[in-house]
Amino acid sequence: MTPINSQAATRLEAAQTRPQGDSHPAQAFYLAGDAAPGASPLVFDSPHSWRDWPSSGTAPLAPPEALWTGWDAWIDELWATAAQGRAPVLAARFQRAFIDANRARDDIDASLLASPWPEPLTPSAACGRGMGLIRRLVLPGVPLYAQPLPVDEVRARITDYYDPYHQALEGLISAAHVAFGLCVHIDCHSMKSVGNGMNVDAGKARPDMVVSNLAGQTSDPFLLRWVVQHLSSLGYQVQANHPYQGAELVRRHGRPAQGRHSLQIEINRALYMDEARFERHDGFERLARDLGTLVAALDDGLRLTLYPPKETAK
Ligand SMILES: [Zn+2]
Repeated sequence: MTPINSQAATRLEAAQTRPQGDSHPAQAFYLAGDAAPGASPLVFDSPHSWRDWPSSGTAPLAPPEALWTGWDAWIDELWATAAQGRAPVLAARFQRAFIDANRARDDIDASLLASPWPEPLTPSAACGRGMGLIRRLVLPGVPLYAQPLPVDEVRARITDYYDPYHQALEGLISAAHVAFGLCVHIDCHSMKSVGNGMNVDAGKARPDMVVSNLAGQTSDPFLLRWVVQHLSSLGYQVQANHPYQGAELVRRHGRPAQGRHSLQIEINRALYMDEARFERHDGFERLARDLGTLVAALDDGLRLTLYPPKETAK
């Protein structure tokens, strides 16, 4: 078992829920809802639900409304509502275009930098489409920055925001694993109802939800099937591992052989918001209620049925 990262645990205790506004290096994340670390075998994380750009550093060329198209609006609140205090929901306090916690640390486009990066870089296919660790494009053909970024600024985004977020998630997963002998981590996102030119499924209408585990690598396959079946039974159109397979958060934190399972769930924004106006609609309440049945059934099942509880240490 991995020991709980005590620094991350301390920062988690100090974290507060502040839905939007400026970002600060001292608070790279917060806990949505009121469940404590280790309260459940379930852990949720929402890396893209912070809307606003920080006031410090290089300002984006793109207007806020363009940046908001990448915002997983209200996903932190949606899952915190669904969790009903049963399980912790970690959320990032930084805009995903500022630095994306769901990309590898070295997934950097060198053309964004004012000088060479001192270590080797491994840009992904998504990075080539403008969506690496640091975004190059905010929308197809719309650049984020007017000029290259200083290497030190990119480095600071990694050490001040990206690393603390991953450490906090690792701390929550370890706390659940210590308490229950296993952890099911669900990485929570929203998707546009139709992909744009930067997406692998450009122009295609998307299902209600996509559940993924990097094509079987980041969780027990039974867990993925169980989640897909539960959501389908509620009337949602659900796909597994297509068009999304999952990215860095499930890749890094999902270690099924060690009882640490990670799934990604993408929810179609049209289910709960007006995508053009960035406004929530009535569907939010029903969706939160439905997801609440998933959280409750999974939490109960993991405690009592799917895996027998670990004996309490005396
Ligand atoms: Zn997302």
